[in-house]
Amino acid sequence: MTERMLQFVELSQKLPEKRSAEERKKDFGEIYQGFARARAEEQASRCSQCGIPFCSVHCPLGNNIPDWLKLTAENRLQDAYAMSAATNTFPEICGRICPQDRLCEGNCVINKGFESVTIGAVERFVTENAFAEGWVQPVLPDYELGRSVGVVGSGPAGLACAERLRRQGYEVHVYERQDRVGGLLTYGIPSFKLEKDVVERRWKLLEAQGVIFHLSTPIGSGEGETTLADLRTRHHAVFLGTGVYRSRAIDVPGSELGGVVDAIDFLTASNRRGYHEDPGNDVALHAKGRRVIVIGGGDTAMDCVRTSIRQGAAEVVCVYRRDRANMPGSRQEVYNAEEEGARFEWLAAPDAFLGSEHVSGVRVQKMRLGTPDATGRRSIEATGQHAIVEGDLVIRALGFDPEDLPGQWNEPDLAVTRWGTLKVPPRGFETSLPGVFAGGDIVRGASLVVWAIKDGRDAADAIHAAFENGSLMGQDALEA
Ligand code: FAD
Ligand code: SF4
Ligand code: SF4
Repeated sequence: MTERMLQFVELSQKLPEKRSAEERKKDFGEIYQGFARARAEEQASRCSQCGIPFCSVHCPLGNNIPDWLKLTAENRLQDAYAMSAATNTFPEICGRICPQDRLCEGNCVINKGFESVTIGAVERFVTENAFAEGWVQPVLPDYELGRSVGVVGSGPAGLACAERLRRQGYEVHVYERQDRVGGLLTYGIPSFKLEKDVVERRWKLLEAQGVIFHLSTPIGSGEGETTLADLRTRHHAVFLGTGVYRSRAIDVPGSELGGVVDAIDFLTASNRRGYHEDPGNDVALHAKGRRVIVIGGGDTAMDCVRTSIRQGAAEVVCVYRRDRANMPGSRQEVYNAEEEGARFEWLAAPDAFLGSEHVSGVRVQKMRLGTPDATGRRSIEATGQHAIVEGDLVIRALGFDPEDLPGQWNEPDLAVTRWGTLKVPPRGFETSLPGVFAGGDIVRGASLVVWAIKDGRDAADAIHAAFENGSLMGQDALEA
C-alpha cells in the first residue's frame, strides 16, 4: 500500500480552511475549520514515510506520526486513532494549539523543496472523527489497586497524569482552585484558538473514568484551606501540576494607574464571559471602545491583542522591544493578528505609563538591534529617542513566573530552583518531599501544552514505578 503515500510531489499542501478576518473577528469561535475526511486522507498521503522521521523526533510526545498518517491515508481511521491516542492523551487539543511550525511540521523533511505535511490538522481530524464515531471511550481499569494519588491542578499536566494513573487502577483525586477543569486551557487560551467544549468533553470523559474532581479547592495554608500536608496523609502519592501564574511586572512610573491590567486577568475575564458569566470589574477588564496597548511579543500578547479586537476595541497596538524577526511568539499568530487589524510598534520599550488617575498612553524608548547573543537572538540597545503611544487600556503581557509555593504552602522543605520552579532531578519527577511529584509549567517555567501532557504522563509512570519498586508506601503503611 506504500503507493498511497509519498504523494507530496503530486499533491500540494492544503491547510485547513481559515475563516476570513472580517467574519472571525466578530465572534470567539475557532478560526480554523477541521479537515473533511477526503482532505485529511489526501493530505496524510503526502508523507514520505521517512526512515528517521524528524517530525516524531521533534514532537515532545514522540508521536508515531508516519504510522498514523499512513493509516489515515488508507482510511483505517480507527487504527489511526488508537495509534495516535497511545502516545497523546489529548491529540485533538495538540492538533489545534501546538506551535507545529516549531515542532513536528517545522522539522518535516519534505519542507526542503515542498511544503510540510499538515500533521496537526490530520491529528485533530483523526480524534474528532473518533469522537464522532463513538470510539473515544473512558479507559476503565481492569481492577482497583487500592492506592490513591492526589493531583493538584487540573491543567494539561494534572489531567494527563490523572488519566494515566486512573486507567492503571489508582484512585485519583484532582484538587483545583478554579470552578472548572482545564487550567489555562479553560481560563487562559482564548476560545478562538481552542473552543471550551473541546476541554469540557475531556473533563466528562475523565469523570466517567472515575477521576474525582474537587473544584474550588485551593491547596494552601490559609484558614480552612486543605494543605499539602493534608494531601500527603490522605494519599499515597501527590502530583503537583499548579502551573505558573505570577505575572511579570514592568518597573516603570505609572504602573499603578487605572486601566493598566495584567494579561491573565484580562483573558480570564474574557473566558468567563464566554460562559455567560459576569466576571465582575467588567468595565476595567473589557476593551470595547477602548484604545488598547498590549505590551509583549509572545503568544499571550497575541491572545490579548486578538481578544481586544473581538471585544470591539477602537484600536489595538502591540508594543514590543525587539522586531518581528526576533519576537518569541508564533509568526502565524502575528500574521493572524495583523489580518484582524492589529498594529505593531516594533523596537519600542515602555519607560512610563502616562496619565493622572487613569492611563492615557505609554511613553516608549525607541530601540535598535545589537549583536546576536549565544542563542543567536539579537540584543537590543536604546537609541535615546522617545515616542508616545496613546491608549486608555494597557495590558501587560510580559510572561509568568511561579508563585512562591514553599512560602504560600508553609512547606519550607519543598525545594525550588533560583527561578522559583519546583526542583526535580534531571529526567525525574519527585520533588524534595518524598512521595510528592511535579511536572508541567511549575517545573519547566511557562512552556507548552504538549510538554505539560508529556510531563503528566511521564510523572504518572514514575509514580507507578515507585510503587512497583517499593519506594512508595502501600495501602497498609497509609492506614497504619
Ligand atoms: P496550567 O494549565 O496552568 O494548570 C495549572 C492548574 O493548577 C490551574 O487550573 C490552576 O488553577 C491550578 N492551581 C494552581 N495552584 C493551585 C492550588 N494552590 N490549588 C489548587 N489548584 C491550583 N501553549 C500551547 O501549547 N499552545 C498555545 O497556543 C498556548 N497559548 C497560551 C496562551 C496563554 C494566554 C497562556 C497563558 C499560555 C498559553 N500556552 C500555550 C501555554 C500553556 O497553556 C501552558 O504551558 C500549559 O497550560 C501548562 O499546563 P500545566 O498543567 O502545567 O498548568
Ligand atoms: Fe505535532 Fe504537537 Fe501533535 Fe506532536 S503533539 S505531532 S508536536 S501537533
Ligand atoms: Fe512524513 Fe514529514 Fe514525518 Fe517524514 S518528516 S515521516 S515526510 S511527516
